[in-house]
Amino acid sequence: MSHIPFDTSGVFIAGLWRPCASGETLPLFNPSDGSLLAQIARGTAADIDAAVAAAQAALDGPWGQLTAAERGRVLHRMSAKVLEQADELARLEALDVGKPLKQGRADALALARYLEFYGGAADKVMGETIPFANGYTALTLREPHGVTGHIVPWNYPMQIIGRSVGAALAMGNACVLKPAEEACLSALAFARIADEAGLPAGALNVVPGLGEEAGAGLSGHAGVQHLSFTGSVSVGSMIQAAAAKHTVPVTLELGGKSPQLVFADADLDAALPFLVNAGIQNAGQTCSAASRILVERSIFDDVVARMATRYRALRVGAALSDLDVGPVISARQRDVIEGYLALARQGGLNIVAEAALAEGLSTGGYFVRPTLVADVPATHRLAQEEIFGPVQVVIPFEGEAEGLRIANGTAFGLVAGVWTRDGGRALRMARKLKCGQVFVNNYGAGGGIELPFGGVKASGHGREKGFEALYGFSTLKTVAIHHG
Ligand code: NAD
Repeated sequence: MSHIPFDTSGVFIAGLWRPCASGETLPLFNPSDGSLLAQIARGTAADIDAAVAAAQAALDGPWGQLTAAERGRVLHRMSAKVLEQADELARLEALDVGKPLKQGRADALALARYLEFYGGAADKVMGETIPFANGYTALTLREPHGVTGHIVPWNYPMQIIGRSVGAALAMGNACVLKPAEEACLSALAFARIADEAGLPAGALNVVPGLGEEAGAGLSGHAGVQHLSFTGSVSVGSMIQAAAAKHTVPVTLELGGKSPQLVFADADLDAALPFLVNAGIQNAGQTCSAASRILVERSIFDDVVARMATRYRALRVGAALSDLDVGPVISARQRDVIEGYLALARQGGLNIVAEAALAEGLSTGGYFVRPTLVADVPATHRLAQEEIFGPVQVVIPFEGEAEGLRIANGTAFGLVAGVWTRDGGRALRMARKLKCGQVFVNNYGAGGGIELPFGGVKASGHGREKGFEALYGFSTLKTVAIHHG
C-alpha cells in the first residue's frame, strides 16, 4: 500500500477528526495499478446531521463573528499552506485520481490561487444605496446564505473545492463538504490544512461517504441553505429535486460535450496543442474537455493528420511516472469508454490514431489508449454523449452557419473554442454559441480562476469562479429606512 501520511478513516466535524457514525469504511484504489490505497469513512446521514449542526454553531459562534477582512486573512493563510504542501498534495492526487504528477501540481497551485483570490475578495463585496422615495434611504446588504453544502466529484477535487468552498467561506458561510467516494484524499488533506491555518472549528466540515448515503443526506437536509453540486447530469437533477423540498437554491456544474471550431484562416500551429491537450488532459475526464473538434472542410485533412501525429506521440503511463496521460479513475469508467470505442468500430467510424501504452504497465491499472476518431456524423452517439475519457471526435463543417449549428447541436452548453484570424467572425461566434464560456484563439479547459464559469442547458446553471461566484454564495437583503 502506498504511504499516506495521515489517518484517512475519519470524518472532520467541528474541528475534530472522529470515526463516522456507521463505524464502517470504504476502500480507495490506486487507478495506476488497482491496489488498495486507503480506507475512508463511510459517512451517512447521521454524520451529515452532526456536520450541519457544527456548521450552524460556527455561524452562531467565532466564525460568524469574524470581519470580512479577518476571513480573508484566514483564506490567505490556507493558501500559503497549500503552496508549502503542493508537492505532497500533487502526490496524493496522482495516487488517488491517477493524474500525472504535473497535473496534480497544477491543481494544487490552482487551489492555492483560489484561496488567494477569494481571500483578497472577501472584504470587497459591497451593497448599494438606491435612489428611492423622498424621506427614505434604501440600501442593499450582501449576506452569507448560512450553512452551504458542497458535493464534489473525483476528477478535479482540489480545483472544485477551491472554487466552491473558497468562495463560500469568503462570504462567511459555513461549509459541509462531501467529497467523491472514488477519490477524497486531497479533501481530507485540505481539512487538515484549514485546521492548521486557524480556520475556526465548524466553518469547514468534511464527510466522505457514498453519494446515495452521505450525498443524499446533505442534499435533502433541512438545515442547509445553499447547495453547490459538481458532477453528472443525472445526479444533478436529483440534487435539484431534493433541494426543492426545502426550497434551497442550487448551483449545478454538470457535464459537457464542448466543441472547438477551427476555421480555415486559423493559426494552426497555435491551435494544435490546445486542440489535443483539451481532449486528453486528465485522461479526458474534464467537464470542459474539448471532446468535439469541428474543422472547416478545406483544412479538415490537414488538421486531422496533424492531430493524429500528436496522438501517436502521446505517452500513457502510471501517474507517478508523470507522462502525458494517466489511467482513468476506475475499471467501471474504463469499461464505459471502451464501450464507446467498440461502438465506433462496429459503426465503421474512421479511427485515425491511437496512442500507445507505456511498456510494463501494471495489468491492474485502468488504462485506455487515447483515441482520435474522424468524420464522425454530428448526430452519432460519439458526437453527442459525454464519454469522459481520452476520446476526441473530429467533424467537418462548411462556413459559419453550419459550424454554429453543429456546435450548438447537443444537449450540453458548457465551453466552446473558436480559432480564426477574422475578428468579426470571432465576435459573431462568441455571441451565438450557446454555452457559459467562449475562448477565442485559446482554450481554457480547467483554467481561469478569475473567469466566471458554468453552463447552460444540461451543463447546469449558476456560476462559480471569479468574483461572480461571491454573488452565488450570498443573498441580497434590501433595507429601506424612513427618516422623513
Ligand atoms: P457523479 O454525479 O456520479 O458524482 C458526483 C458527486 O455526487 C460525488 O460526490 C457522489 O458521491 C455524489 N452523488 C452521487 N449520487 C448522489 C446522490 N444520489 N445524492 C447526492 N450526491 C450524490 O459524477 P462523477 O461521475 O463523479 O463525475 C463526473 C461528472 O461530473 C461528469 O459528468 C462531469 O462532466 C461532471 N463534472 C462537471 C464539472 C463542471 O464544473 N461543470 C466539473 C467536473 C466534473
